[in-house]
Amino acid sequence: LNRRLAEFGTTIFAEMSALAVTTGAINLGQGFPDTDGPEEVREAAVRALRDGRGNQYPPGPGVPELRAAVAEHQFRRYGLSYDPDTEVLVTAGATEAIAAALLGLLEPGDEVVALEPYYDSYAACIAMAGGTRVPVTLRPHEGAFRLDLDELRDAVTDRTRLLLLNTPHNPTGTVLSREELAAIAELAVERDLLVVTDEVYEHLVFDGAEHIPLATFPGMRERTVSISSAGKTFSFTGWKVGWVTAAPALLTAVRTAKQYLTYVASGPFQYAVAEALALPESYFTAYRADMEAKRDLLAAGLAEAGFGVHRPTGTYFVTTDIRPLGERDGIAFCRSLPERAGVVAVPNAVFYDHREAGAPFVRFAFCKRTPVLEEAVRRLKTLA
Ligand code: PMP
Ligand code: GLN
Repeated sequence: LNRRLAEFGTTIFAEMSALAVTTGAINLGQGFPDTDGPEEVREAAVRALRDGRGNQYPPGPGVPELRAAVAEHQFRRYGLSYDPDTEVLVTAGATEAIAAALLGLLEPGDEVVALEPYYDSYAACIAMAGGTRVPVTLRPHEGAFRLDLDELRDAVTDRTRLLLLNTPHNPTGTVLSREELAAIAELAVERDLLVVTDEVYEHLVFDGAEHIPLATFPGMRERTVSISSAGKTFSFTGWKVGWVTAAPALLTAVRTAKQYLTYVASGPFQYAVAEALALPESYFTAYRADMEAKRDLLAAGLAEAGFGVHRPTGTYFVTTDIRPLGERDGIAFCRSLPERAGVVAVPNAVFYDHREAGAPFVRFAFCKRTPVLEEAVRRLKTLA
């Protein structure tokens, strides 16, 4: 393993999902739904396979139907207008989009400011691109994890090339507000920064909160690379279909890197995701309402089981504080939890550079069937 990757071992998701399999515990660790997405979207994939659409290399940037559907989605929901031919790119999940964006945009030695805790691929991709990560820690405040805008401003130096954002935020469930996003946009314009924004949970916002893409703020469209994925929005995490929207110069940089990572993303699924993006609004509303009810169930159950609960405003994760249970080390806690209680969770510490800041926090996923969540809560109550 080279020096750039020396600090990275097996991802926490692989480790914890393997533990779930060997112990038979309920897996609330890795974020994937235990119910597949809409039947008609699965049928669309089968039709594409049968009709021979996408069984050979699709066009590098993605099939025209999906690029058009992505552009249409961005316009319909957010009023963002992107040219499907020059400003939309289909990728092998958001994971590849993040990698290609960083590999295509960073020079070795560039600093990347990212919100900590961060999704684990960010650190590895910044390292692969030869960049330096500069974490800005989201801190617990009145039940939520908050961004300190002064800390963000102070983190930007003359070497900062790019801000790497994620809202709704995995693992904390924080949704950046209009005011916070406006301040971030001002900072990006003032310091002439690029922004890569990971918005894979764009459809999972609760309590009437709103997801606002950073690209909609003044001066941002030309400096923002926006990323999303069918895995989260349509519950097909195994299909690995994601996408990027950005102005032509930025998109070209991402596409150039993407060409040499996978060349193209999986063919038949692209046609199915194009149909998924055109589902009526009722699909998105019902999906959100379903996840909101599951959030309520798991958040209440975890509180009853003695955890400190940070109620998420978005995503399908709840971050808990284990100190009320008399525990302090989330990594040790998660390694022993399958044996102790038959449940798998993920320690937030692995998403931090400042590990001590994340030590007492543990993440549970609630994208699971209601009886599964109920059983997990029953088991966790035996801990107290
Ligand atoms: N970004 C975040 C914040 C995520 O939580 C995930 C999924 N776990 C991804 C990116 C990766 O998405 P995909 O599965 O589409 O590669
Ligand atoms: N995004 C999912 C999570 O945060 C899992 C992705 C993965 O396994 N890499 O749990």
